[in-house]
Amino acid sequence: MQILKTRVELENALAFIRKSNHTLGFVPTMGALHKGHISLLTKAQKENSYSIASVFVNPTQFNDPQDYSKYPRNLSVDARILEDAKCDFLFAPSNNEVYRDDAIESFELGTVMQTLEGAFRPGHFQGVAAVVKRLLEMVQPTKVYFGLKDYQQFLVIKKLKEEYNLSPDIVGCEIIREESGLAMSSRNQLLSSEGKEIASNLSRVLREMRSRYRSVSTPQLLAEGKKRISAIAGIRLEYLEVVDAKTLIPVSQPFAGEFDAIALLAAHVEGVRLIDNMFLTFPQGSTNA
Ligand code: AMP
Repeated sequence: MQILKTRVELENALAFIRKSNHTLGFVPTMGALHKGHISLLTKAQKENSYSIASVFVNPTQFNDPQDYSKYPRNLSVDARILEDAKCDFLFAPSNNEVYRDDAIESFELGTVMQTLEGAFRPGHFQGVAAVVKRLLEMVQPTKVYFGLKDYQQFLVIKKLKEEYNLSPDIVGCEIIREESGLAMSSRNQLLSSEGKEIASNLSRVLREMRSRYRSVSTPQLLAEGKKRISAIAGIRLEYLEVVDAKTLIPVSQPFAGEFDAIALLAAHVEGVRLIDNMFLTFPQGSTNA
């Protein structure tokens, strides 16, 4: 695996791919890699001639400076994990390399950017859109892979592609979970084992909501879900919503077949902010997005 730190190194290393008919699958990450990230890489490897992952903790998407400073970082461990997974290239640029002195664009991507995470983390998706657009311009992949764990981010990036005519295909990948049901996340490294156990209740509540979706009204489903979460010591719920999976507009009643409903939540455990989601309209939990 080649480790590339600058735009020039990237350009030189990828020149032979650009000149050929080879395809390049790209997995952007913020590091502290786990099996969720590797599942994206595996898919990228299956679908392309070459694979590239990036590790860049993007400062512009953190609305909370403390969250940015405590975000787990360990490039040498990440490089080893990627090497073991037979990734071809690792792009690990500095802040300067990504942002230089260029003005940071402002993005208007509608409801999918403004609601939920957009409302609770002001500026977050501006930063996500800015970094993804830059990384895509630098890497110029054939396909780029995102996890549905960050479901709203996935919709924001699809919208970004549409608005800016970006060429790579955007591929969504299923959420990888611990045996306990806890969605894998770099932030889980910041939790104690007790914290992880507490946090695993979030996916349990989502599963319960999925099994109840067709039996009760959506307001009741939400009330039940919120009540269950508030009964668990150690979880502070930020939001729990049931929305149309395409528009993120709240769903009032389940109308089978007309749209897919998804439950999304954000919650704090031991001071760590966690997100999770589950489609409610697919009984087996398949995301199929
Ligand atoms: P991050 O490093 O957290 O920015 O994540 C990089 C990519 O990996 C994003 O597209 C995430 O959605 C994806 N990802 C993170 N955790 C998981 C997971 N548990 N399952 C699937 N994809 C994930």
